[in-house]
Amino acid sequence: MADRRHSADHQVALEHRVTVNDRYGVLGWPVGHSRSPAMMRAAGLERYQRLPVAPEVFADTVRALGAAGFRGANVTIPHKEAALTLASTASDAAREIGAANTLSFGADGSIHAENTDASGLLAALGRAPASALVLGAGGSARAVVWALTRAGADVSIWNRTPRRAEGIGARVVAAPVAAEVLVNCTSVGLEHSSTPFKDLPLEADGLTEYATVVDLVYRAGGTALIAEAERRSIATVDGLEILACQGALSFTLWTGLAAPLDTMRMAARGCQPETNAS
Ligand code: NAP
Repeated sequence: MADRRHSADHQVALEHRVTVNDRYGVLGWPVGHSRSPAMMRAAGLERYQRLPVAPEVFADTVRALGAAGFRGANVTIPHKEAALTLASTASDAAREIGAANTLSFGADGSIHAENTDASGLLAALGRAPASALVLGAGGSARAVVWALTRAGADVSIWNRTPRRAEGIGARVVAAPVAAEVLVNCTSVGLEHSSTPFKDLPLEADGLTEYATVVDLVYRAGGTALIAEAERRSIATVDGLEILACQGALSFTLWTGLAAPLDTMRMAARGCQPETNAS
């Protein structure tokens, strides 16, 4: 009953902030796999759509979105760096990370860039850890290292190609080190594999060196990394929780409202969210 009341209040508040003509979307190439449309529509942004945009037309498309009625867009692979360069203003997070996953379009034609991947990770963790080992040195690793070091964590980073990990702002290690949190920011685990460990620098039993295992990767049925951590009773945060938390922050940026995080979580996981209608 309280949940239904909360949903009804959310819907009323949203109707004051979002007009029926306001459009939203997720820019990517490809973007067919994205769970953001289900999640954002469940949150009440009914005109949120997939925007499959090839790199060669990305700049022209983004510049046209505001006039086409878009108020916001999420940005995913491979456009996060390009999105930042097109923005007229950017948050410290987006600028310092060098990538944006959220764009807001002003009525005056302005574009503001934000990076909610960073704050989404901290929201998903609940509190900043004292130390972390980050696996990977791509775009998501840069956001994760930025968020964790800004929150005061002692961060080490391992990457298959060590040179790429230099200059990200964490101690580059050639082999795994024990830490409070392990964060997988490689794309290992995206394809189904009974063991992700042949491509990562640790064995499944090595997961016991970490109090919490975070996997940014998400796939239907869950990832083997998360399954192995759970088998060892280690706390986990999976990629869908990170997705829901970064999406909730984007929702709040665009609407000024608290996001219905539980509804968004369920939709990201493919569960039927409780209707927002009373
Ligand atoms: P990216 O920029 O392309 O970086 C990919 C990283 O994976 C690089 O460090 C790369 O190492 C490493 N890698 C790829 N194949 C590997 C292999 N076989 N063995 C070891 N390392 C390998 O990608 P990204 O944007 O950082 O994203 C990484 C993953 O996180 C993707 O699966 C993405 O979908 C996911 N993600 C999830 C969320 C979420 O909300 N849950 C948000 C962002 C990203 P090299 O440098 O050696 O090539």
